[in-house]
Amino acid sequence: MGERGERGSEKERRPVKAAFDGAKRSRRLKQVVLGSIFVVLLVGGWFYSLVGYFIPLCMVAGVGLASVRGRKWCNWMCPRGSFADTYMKVISPGRKIPGWLRGTPVRMGVLAFLMAMLVFQIARLWPDPYAIGRFFVMLLTITTVVGLFMALFLHQRAWCSICPIGSLSSWVGKDRYPLDMDKDACVSCGLCAKTCPMQLAPQEMKENETMSFKGDCLKCGLCVRACPKQALHFPA
Ligand code: SF4
Ligand code: SF4
Repeated sequence: MGERGERGSEKERRPVKAAFDGAKRSRRLKQVVLGSIFVVLLVGGWFYSLVGYFIPLCMVAGVGLASVRGRKWCNWMCPRGSFADTYMKVISPGRKIPGWLRGTPVRMGVLAFLMAMLVFQIARLWPDPYAIGRFFVMLLTITTVVGLFMALFLHQRAWCSICPIGSLSSWVGKDRYPLDMDKDACVSCGLCAKTCPMQLAPQEMKENETMSFKGDCLKCGLCVRACPKQALHFPA
């Protein structure tokens, strides 16, 4: 099928594009605010260590929200995710995140290592709240530096593929608020995959029952708005 047939006529495309641009703008604005707050928290944490407690708060909020809405927290509410999509994106070549990096063994390994370190350090520093806060800030700084390197060589959201909060949210919220497809409407144009910030491929649902790494869907809705055939939707 030709480009015009697949993506619709110019007249059909116009409202789709307007809705897509609007959604992208609104997401971007929220991410700029939260991404900037992330920088303030990270720098501020080195001067006032109690700021570090925002990490466990993010963990509880992210995984808690995942139990109802999937990985929605990581879209723009997570300050580091927003930092990745706004600031890290500038330095990233946007390469494909390898499948093995997003696979369960690597994610489990990173989660187990960081959790073990967390428990060990909290037990060691207990009951000094300032020392524990400092440890959180240190952990945030180190993982952010790792994320920056991953962005520099791979993709701005590469860290999000192995982030413990992201992995837990992805497992807990895998079947929550799922993206769905009207298979008859889909023309396999691939615009959904092209727009996905997590490099997911919603068009896979045309052939399979599901898409790879579906737990990583941020419920951002960009693919829904980008689809020229309105083939994608979330539950009402
Ligand atoms: S679901 Fe994706 S591949 Fe299918 S028509 Fe919509 S944008 Fe194109
Ligand atoms: S699959 Fe769609 S809703 Fe999910 S992260 Fe990708 S673009 Fe956003």
